[in-house]
Amino acid sequence: MKKILLILTLIFTFACQTFALEIVKPTNKSSVVYTQSAHIYGKVKPDSTLHINSQEVKVWKDFFVHSIPLNMGDNKITIVETQKNGTKKTKVINITRMDEPKEKVQPFVAKEPNTILMAKTIRDYAPVREMASDNSNRVVDLPKGVVLYLSGKQGNYYKIEEMGETEFWINKNFISAPTLTDCRIPITISAPQKSYDNLYDYTKFEITYPVLYTIKQNDKTLNLTLYGVYGGPEAQKRNLELTYNSKDTILGYDGVYSNGDFIFKTAKTPVVKNPDRPLEGLRIFIDAGHGGKDTGAIGPTKIPEKKFNLAIALKLIDLLQKEEGAIVSYSRNSDVFVDLNKRVDLAKQNNALISISIHNNSLPQGEDPYIKHGTGTYYYNFNAKDIALTIKNNLVNDLKLKDDGLNYKSLVLDRATDPISTLTEVAYLTYPKEYMLLQDEKFQQEVANSIRKSLREFILSLQNEK
Ligand SMILES: [Zn+2]
Repeated sequence: MKKILLILTLIFTFACQTFALEIVKPTNKSSVVYTQSAHIYGKVKPDSTLHINSQEVKVWKDFFVHSIPLNMGDNKITIVETQKNGTKKTKVINITRMDEPKEKVQPFVAKEPNTILMAKTIRDYAPVREMASDNSNRVVDLPKGVVLYLSGKQGNYYKIEEMGETEFWINKNFISAPTLTDCRIPITISAPQKSYDNLYDYTKFEITYPVLYTIKQNDKTLNLTLYGVYGGPEAQKRNLELTYNSKDTILGYDGVYSNGDFIFKTAKTPVVKNPDRPLEGLRIFIDAGHGGKDTGAIGPTKIPEKKFNLAIALKLIDLLQKEEGAIVSYSRNSDVFVDLNKRVDLAKQNNALISISIHNNSLPQGEDPYIKHGTGTYYYNFNAKDIALTIKNNLVNDLKLKDDGLNYKSLVLDRATDPISTLTEVAYLTYPKEYMLLQDEKFQQEVANSIRKSLREFILSLQNEK
């Protein structure tokens, strides 16, 4: 009998704990922020009332989301849940507001004059940036083995000797230890050879060593520059420049080193045979953000973002394959971890024309969840701006969501120039109404329908140019 009572007590305690007040964000009892406000969210027992620092806060079903202003220094926050039967549960947390520490600017140290400082990239996706900072814009991601000459150092960054419209900088972690050398490696390049297949036009150069290159898009023009080719002890150093003009909208484009060649490729405009099925035979890559150990954001009742991303992605994949006859590839169709660069590799290996990454958003501290929410899309390259805008506008209209903008931001999943790459943040886990919508399968299906519609509109718009 005692045993049964003990078990019953345990079950009862467990049941109570499941419903009792739980603070999900901030994750720790004491935390430090650099912002003027903070939001707090978590789980409550349904039908409870909630007070934060004596102020009553709205309870949504079984959770709350609340934003409070912060004073400098320690802010003691008392959260009291009053359950229907009168039971009170209290949690006290502390948030310390501080001034953001300023990053020290390190001086630039130029190399000794009349010396040659050389290094090579040691990893794929080695980013070349416009400034000596991890937050600076990326110019290009270089593959392993590219020869670089350096003119100095600032902090963790080396300045590359070459100059384009901006300076070129690379983090020391992506290159071999720079060495002093007597002479530059002579780099020779062949005349361009053109070829094509069903999906791409190619311009191929044989090159003795991979070098830094940039491809800049200006509407319907692409400018390719290969830096420091034709170099040699006596030869005047110069760059190879190639201009590609297109009469059609520029879709995916890329520069690839392969077996002693540099290949510049541009994706062909897909031909629509049946206007009712414009996506038939089209190669599309769908990325469900996060997965496995990478949960993404965590909602007020602890549902992870990865779950919503996957649910929407699976519905979209299904529509595109079954209803549209598209050739769909994807990063994941279950709850597994996939490395970010691996996702981009998969999209490229499948020769996708378009890559769509599906995420859901959450606010960082300092902004009010009741003000900043809605649907937003992201692009980094000009060739993805149109599709990103179409997806955003359709989601806003079809789902009656707040417009959170067409955003320009460098992200792994929107940075590739081939495929055309865009990322969608469907809704915010930090906004109660959207968090509840995301749990609704009907809503997930409508999101998938809307993205499918955007893809159709985008492909059909390309045909009108002809
Ligand atoms: Zn995400």
